Amino acid sequence: MNKELLYTGKAKDVYKTDNEDEVIVHFRNDITALDGGKTDSLENKGRYNTLISAKLFEVLESKGVKTQYIDLITSEEMLSKSLKMIPLEVICRNIATGSLIKKYPFQEKQELNPPIIQFDYKNDEFHDPMLNDDIIIALNIATKDDLERIREITRKLNSVLVDFLKEHGIILVDFKIEVGFDKDNNIVVGDEISPDTTRLWDIETGKNFDKDIFRKNESGVVSAYHKVVKAILTPEEQKKWNVE
Ligand code: 5GP
Repeated sequence: MNKELLYTGKAKDVYKTDNEDEVIVHFRNDITALDGGKTDSLENKGRYNTLISAKLFEVLESKGVKTQYIDLITSEEMLSKSLKMIPLEVICRNIATGSLIKKYPFQEKQELNPPIIQFDYKNDEFHDPMLNDDIIIALNIATKDDLERIREITRKLNSVLVDFLKEHGIILVDFKIEVGFDKDNNIVVGDEISPDTTRLWDIETGKNFDKDIFRKNESGVVSAYHKVVKAILTPEEQKKWNVE
């Protein structure tokens, strides 16, 4: 297979394939936080994020939420539909924490029902500022109809993943997704859904299973991601991908 690099991000590389409608996404071990101010490389992180993203994309597809996922090639490489990405970080919150409580007078751990959906501009130069609909439309990032569709997809995705993760002992606190247009101009979920892009709390202890461990300079990032893999993959899937 032709492996020409199309794009390299903070933790993933995207390669061309011989089919222009498909790309290969390679999840690296790199991890960054604090607007790129904190970086590291953690063994197995790429592998665990690939397996977690693939599993969550499969769950979403089975419930009618379209994603870019096609198949796993290896435990670090995902065959994906090629998308024209919309430069938004679509953030959805079920529980108040993180930047929300720094910026607004919510109580830490306050339940948010209905969930809050927020759009940030995926733009490093401007440090990912929060947008509103008028700014998004004026900047030609997306149309009013696109935004309505993105909100609908996000609400559905949230309810599917809240239920799935709860069954496996995990609370989906909040997450960031990215969306784009497929070749038929449908808006579909792209990028990844992993502990790098979500907050996942242990139902029993309330402990983080996500990148907040890295953001807070604590140890045990990879072992937390490993716990998520063990919690959500079936024993057969774990065997297939040699998860110890
Ligand atoms: P917060 O705004 O509280 O920092 O983040 C809300 C949620 O969105 C968290 O699950 C966080 O991981 C995710 N998120 C927000 N911005 C980014 C980003 O730029 N990169 C990644 N990987 N996740 C983000």
